[in-house]
Amino acid sequence: MTKSAEELLEIDRKYFMHPSTHAHDHETGALPGRLVTSARGIRIRDHRGETFIDGFAGLYCVNIGYGRTEVAEAMYEQARRLAYYHTYVGHTTDVVAELSRRIMEWAPEGMKKVYFGLSGSDANETQIKIVWYYNNILGRRNKKKIISREGGYHGSSIAAGSLTGLASFHRHFDLPLERMKHTVRPHWYRNAPEGLDEAAFSRYCAEQLEALILSEGPDTVAAFIGEPVLGTGGIVPPPKGYWSAIQAVLDKYDILLIADEVVCGFGRLGSPMGSQKYGIRPDLITIAKGLTSAYAPLSGVIVGDKVWDVIVSGSRTEGAMGHGWTYSGHPVSAAAALANLDILESENIPAQAASVGAYLQASLQAAFAAHPLVGEVRGAGMLAALEFMADPVRRVPFDKDVKVGSRVAAACMQRHLIARAMPDHDVLGFAPPLVTTREDVDEIVRITREAVDAVATEIT
Ligand code: PLP
Repeated sequence: MTKSAEELLEIDRKYFMHPSTHAHDHETGALPGRLVTSARGIRIRDHRGETFIDGFAGLYCVNIGYGRTEVAEAMYEQARRLAYYHTYVGHTTDVVAELSRRIMEWAPEGMKKVYFGLSGSDANETQIKIVWYYNNILGRRNKKKIISREGGYHGSSIAAGSLTGLASFHRHFDLPLERMKHTVRPHWYRNAPEGLDEAAFSRYCAEQLEALILSEGPDTVAAFIGEPVLGTGGIVPPPKGYWSAIQAVLDKYDILLIADEVVCGFGRLGSPMGSQKYGIRPDLITIAKGLTSAYAPLSGVIVGDKVWDVIVSGSRTEGAMGHGWTYSGHPVSAAAALANLDILESENIPAQAASVGAYLQASLQAAFAAHPLVGEVRGAGMLAALEFMADPVRRVPFDKDVKVGSRVAAACMQRHLIARAMPDHDVLGFAPPLVTTREDVDEIVRITREAVDAVATEIT
């Protein structure tokens, strides 16, 4: 029996517990919900037949755009031939072996192996266990704390959610866990003390990190985790010289560096990963999203030489590591990833992201740098943000209750553009599919300008 869209939305309200959704408003219908029925390229279509430009690629993940049948066919063929076999005790499949090799071609130097999971959150759980295992094998039983940044996003599970530096992911969950610490959010515009230029602010961030390490005790700090470009915490590219200053502090105290490339990896910044763009030398890398362009769930932990050597020596004395999921290296997801990488490589999509990304940044600057509502226009590659301020020059934010970010996002939606009101402060985020063209960018910027102007009229 075919159900109408209205019936389906009602069933959804009754039975589906949504992630990151206001439970009361959804259940009562105050939050209307949206039934997405199909998608192609950079546009999604809903049950009313209305189409929207997806300016956030789902949740910054549909990098090759929607409707690529090559990926669907690769998954179908794989599911028919071998839908599943596990990868415990040395078992593998052709697609998993081949994908592991292909991922190394995208990774920065010094990477050795890849472990597979299903989500960015579970991959970061694996990171934490690897870091703790590493120090236990080295006999450094106290070296277990992990430092991330305020505003960092690393998932919403217990331990990865503790690494996330956003209060809404901790409040009422008794998080963060004791071993997880947070250092300065590396955002010059909002967080730099008066009088520091960007380079001086990067040195300040490194000094603050060092002070935290010293106050916790360097022999208790195991790792530092960061996104090359801070994502959900506001889409903030690193200030000048940031990563080299941070890396020097980590090297000094023998602290591992985990690059969380869940958003930046696989071409979003125009480079293979964010690490290459910013000269980051990670010991461990987290990947997800762009690995399959979200055609199937798949994440990974790329392990560098230094950590891998310790894992191997640990196995000699301790046996197999007690870690793994039923779906680690799921062949259907691996087939999707291989087809996705084929598209990214054969169509040179990272290069397109570099050039269209530069155009996106320039177009947003031209439209908004002098706008009275906008404090900062920022971004890198195909990641961009507008930050709204009551007083852009003195950097005075709007009263929270005015909800400027959400209102602008809603005004964009009315005009058939999806841009994301980021969870922290009044920030509108863009992360369009990497196949977005210059003409699409023109449309995105035009609609956004109309939406921001409409909200400006309402509130001033
Ligand atoms: N790490 C980063 C940088 C992310 O942006 C995200 C999700 O947005 C995650 C980890 C968590 O990934 P997932 O939602 O797949 O668990």
